[in-house]
Amino acid sequence: MTGIFHERRFYEDTGLQCRHCKRPVYKSDILACAYQCFACEKDFFDDEAEPLSASRNPRVMVAQRIDGITLNTELEMLLDDNNEVIVFDNKAEAEAYLLEHGVDAEEMEHMYFCEATLDPLLRAIEAEEVTLAEISEELDYRDRSGGQRWNDSLHEYATMELQEVEASFPIANESKTLRLHWAGDNEGYYRTYYRDEATGDLYALMKFLDTRTWHTATPAGEPDMPLKDGLHLEIVEDGQVIRRENITRVNDYTSIGVIVDEEDAE
Ligand SMILES: [Zn+2]
Repeated sequence: MTGIFHERRFYEDTGLQCRHCKRPVYKSDILACAYQCFACEKDFFDDEAEPLSASRNPRVMVAQRIDGITLNTELEMLLDDNNEVIVFDNKAEAEAYLLEHGVDAEEMEHMYFCEATLDPLLRAIEAEEVTLAEISEELDYRDRSGGQRWNDSLHEYATMELQEVEASFPIANESKTLRLHWAGDNEGYYRTYYRDEATGDLYALMKFLDTRTWHTATPAGEPDMPLKDGLHLEIVEDGQVIRRENITRVNDYTSIGVIVDEEDAE
């Protein structure tokens, strides 16, 4: 049986894919709907599904039911000697491995071949357990070492998959962190200016009473737009990061930099 293991449930393959994102769809848990796409987080009718592309050959994990009675309870995953779930490059490889280890065709019929998706990796990036910088370092390493793998948390992912993930975050990759140098103070207006190392752009930190707010600034030093939510700032002095701040946009006009790490208080 081939399918996917999603939130502790096994969903069997349907041979169909989502018309929107081209990933496989599975039987809906909602009676009124035919299928669901986990990537789009949507349930829908037949007409939004289309035949699965024949070239699809996903990585799989192998599992069997623990008690053998109820479907969709605990599945036991096939582990290696280090108790890590084995992820095979495709189903044929998994079958070959099982045959080699004394599992016959009949037994194999009762096993689950669960597609290994990129969702855990995307979630790890969202939770900041894995950074895009680590992914690109890993790709560089594999490139230089002729395909050797280095970073343990990325070990199970194929090079093509890491490239796919890296390519899907091009903007975040380039602009999520700003490295800023002190560029000047304007005491009268309670402003401190910083310059971005990479672009030369000016930024203004406005300090008034207890409030510190961040803005972009015109070349003449006029504060302009509030910074974007989620930006990460590194304040650099003599090549060392002396302070890190995470930007939180409070409203359309105000962005607050929450100091997350400070070497040397101002
Ligand atoms: Zn979809």
